[in-house]
Amino acid sequence: MSKYPAERAQQLAKIVHREGARGAGVALVKQLLTRLGYHPAGGKTDLYSADLYDADMTRAVRLFQAYFHLPVTGNLDVQTLKLLRQPRCGVRDIPEGVDLKALDESLGNAGSETDDPFTFRFNSGPWESYDLRYQVYNGSPDLTTEVECIDAAFQVWAAASPLHFTRVNTADGADIRLGFESGDHGDGSPFDGPGHILAHGFYPRNGRVHFDEAETWRDWRFGDAGGEDLFHVAIHEIGHALGLGHSRLDSTIMYPFAHNGRHALAEEDIRGILSLYPFRAGASARATVVNLWAFAGGTGSALVDFGRRRRFLAFGQTTFVDALGDYDRDNACALDVFRVDGELVGNVGYGGDHLGTNGAPSNLFPGAYIGVGRTVQFRLSTFHSSDLSAYGSGCVLALD
Ligand code: ZN
Ligand code: CA
Repeated sequence: MSKYPAERAQQLAKIVHREGARGAGVALVKQLLTRLGYHPAGGKTDLYSADLYDADMTRAVRLFQAYFHLPVTGNLDVQTLKLLRQPRCGVRDIPEGVDLKALDESLGNAGSETDDPFTFRFNSGPWESYDLRYQVYNGSPDLTTEVECIDAAFQVWAAASPLHFTRVNTADGADIRLGFESGDHGDGSPFDGPGHILAHGFYPRNGRVHFDEAETWRDWRFGDAGGEDLFHVAIHEIGHALGLGHSRLDSTIMYPFAHNGRHALAEEDIRGILSLYPFRAGASARATVVNLWAFAGGTGSALVDFGRRRRFLAFGQTTFVDALGDYDRDNACALDVFRVDGELVGNVGYGGDHLGTNGAPSNLFPGAYIGVGRTVQFRLSTFHSSDLSAYGSGCVLALD
């Protein structure tokens, strides 16, 4: 089964360079893979080794291919090169300090049932405060509405999380500072002129977000406006400024490659932001309610943090809509009390068509739970149901 006709697949798999090759093209790709975190920086960078397709380069290409779900060959083929050249965010896909050898070994297991689907792989730590201030310190000559566009991008994250954002007019007291920069602008990550790298954002608590002024920026909030979509890119970069790393799923905002017109957070983005900024139960609150949704057979997740260990009761309620109206007898949805303090709670159902082997995250977990812990993670999911959309609320009730 192939996405492409055999002839097209063959063209895409055509090898441009492979291990042992040498040349300026190899050096350029190596430089790019180093910048994105796939190739180890430092070591010998003399001219002799810079343009050689060595074993590190093969591993870097293999990691890039695995990261983006391409056929993993370690050879630089047409489709790999094509993806490498697409307009994207300048932030590394793999952060500094990650053991590339261990990652190379573990990527083989990605997507297996035992993998936890509820984590972004390379998040940084969060901000301490949920109440953040930002400044837009300059504008772009391309636009008149860049500040409103950036305001709207912050509101996309505010709508899906407990975070609250306020724009301020001075650098003093601003947690996040956004602006337009060109070329080498003094932060160690120079921009590259028109195309390819569009922007970058630094993790907490650095707070800098830069857009490449060499791009032609347009306001896409109300539809296709040509040029580069500032609203889309701003939502993505603010994600970094809040602590999110890149996602490997191409439906997400945090996917590294630009997608003009994409302005909605995907489930994975929402899980990511809530993993960093869970809803907090107030010290005096008796009950805390969180809302979850899951479109077209996906899953939703929300995390509640009591701030300390408490005795609690947790339960969820759901409803669903079948867009196709063809209810099957095994259509269903469930709102699980999925993890308490990061640990899976005991499963009540496994196996069959929709649930995994005993102990797997795809099991069904109790709809009500009484116990002791600090954090409670709810999960909303549907069964046999790529057409089912589910909506639910999770409630935790402090008992002490
Ligand atoms: Zn990015
Ligand atoms: Ca650029």
